[in-house]
Amino acid sequence: TRTTKDWQAADASHHLHPFTDFKSLAGKGSRIITRADNIYLWDSEGHKLLDAMSGLWCVNVGYGRRELIDAATKQLETLPFYNSFFQTTTPPAIELAELLAQVTPPQFKHVFFSGSGSEGNDTIVRMVRRYWDLKGQPERSVIISRHNAYHGSTMAGASLGGMSGMHEQGGLPIPGIVHIEQPFWYESDRRLSRDEFGLKAARALEQKILEIGADKVAAFIGEPVQGAGGVIVPPATYWPEIQRICDRHGILLVSDEVICGFGRTGQWFGCETFGYRPDLMTFAKGVTSGYIPLGGVMVGERVAKVLIEEGGEFAHGYTYSGHPVACAVGIANIKLIQREGLVERVRTEIGPYLAETFAALAEHPLVGEVQTCGMMGALQLVKDKASGEMFDGKLEVGMVCRAHCFGNGLIMRAVGDRMIVAPPLVMTKAQIDEMAVLIRKCLDLTQQELKQ
Ligand code: PLP
Repeated sequence: TRTTKDWQAADASHHLHPFTDFKSLAGKGSRIITRADNIYLWDSEGHKLLDAMSGLWCVNVGYGRRELIDAATKQLETLPFYNSFFQTTTPPAIELAELLAQVTPPQFKHVFFSGSGSEGNDTIVRMVRRYWDLKGQPERSVIISRHNAYHGSTMAGASLGGMSGMHEQGGLPIPGIVHIEQPFWYESDRRLSRDEFGLKAARALEQKILEIGADKVAAFIGEPVQGAGGVIVPPATYWPEIQRICDRHGILLVSDEVICGFGRTGQWFGCETFGYRPDLMTFAKGVTSGYIPLGGVMVGERVAKVLIEEGGEFAHGYTYSGHPVACAVGIANIKLIQREGLVERVRTEIGPYLAETFAALAEHPLVGEVQTCGMMGALQLVKDKASGEMFDGKLEVGMVCRAHCFGNGLIMRAVGDRMIVAPPLVMTKAQIDEMAVLIRKCLDLTQQELKQ
């Protein structure tokens, strides 16, 4: 067996990690995660960590679920791979498509599978442009997205995303993708009420449409709650206004449900929590609880009808579209979510308890505001609690706090100075209490370090 140092040396020599300063690997070395159960992880040194991020927002049913493991094993033995290109497919792909049509909002009867959320969003770009081509309006090609959004790392995914650091690398965005402001009330001057601000932020979409010309705009895409951007929960007025604007201008509305899907917000999909009716939805992560890669696009009837009846071949697809093992795990995962009533549990029991717990954490002197939505939460760390003045980003207070979390057995993420969680939906109240004790401790340690 290899020692941690040994693993770290090999890692630093050969492995380029995503979203990582490569040079840092040679210094402190990576943390090697070796096993997991329920909401806990263990590293190669035997330290136990409470995973308040569900991996990367994906392990909705928690680690170690026998049903998912058995489904994968059985499918691997029966048929480890076959594709769904050229009029072939496999029973798991069919059955998952059927199940997705049941658990998604009623306008969705069709799915196009991908291997990831990024590929799902690439599919979206091609599909909405194809839709307008088929409708005889090929000039309708611009897609509007938002600053600080995350829609993946492929060329189209990262272009839809609104992270300036990503756009700086590789010449993004690709043509025909533009961005408007995000609905982040706390970051504004806060002179408007949250609801007024929500309307204002949504109306930035209408302004952009009028600026470009509605006859050039294909679609608007957004995450119900911006996840990687920092768990930015929009005001209640935001999404209904976005819906109104899209309807008024005939623009396709796309919901990126990669994080919010499969129960995280307390409904099956975030669009149901926020009251809008998308034409297309991207999903990934929670569809298999991250046990195996799978993503895709739910295609609403407005688009499906045109693609099917007028489209002929859609020249698009991935080797792993409808991968039978991934789909078998997806089926087992959705059935598990249904059997354990996890969506209902998030809505009525554990989500409200997380909200209460975060409301109590809001008392901490470092915390300017808290936001939660279902099993997602954010703590905004601020320099001055009374005025809400934020820290100078150079201090990297979020990173300081994250390091304390990491050192104290808690995996929590920092987005700037916003500390965020998205724990598994199976978490118990006692485990939320346990997480809150750790969070408080890490906030205290961060505060002490700032005073030094
Ligand atoms: N869309 C959203 C909202 C995401 O959060 C992510 C990943 O975090 C993606 C898309 C990209 O998904 P993937 O990493 O599976 O390509």
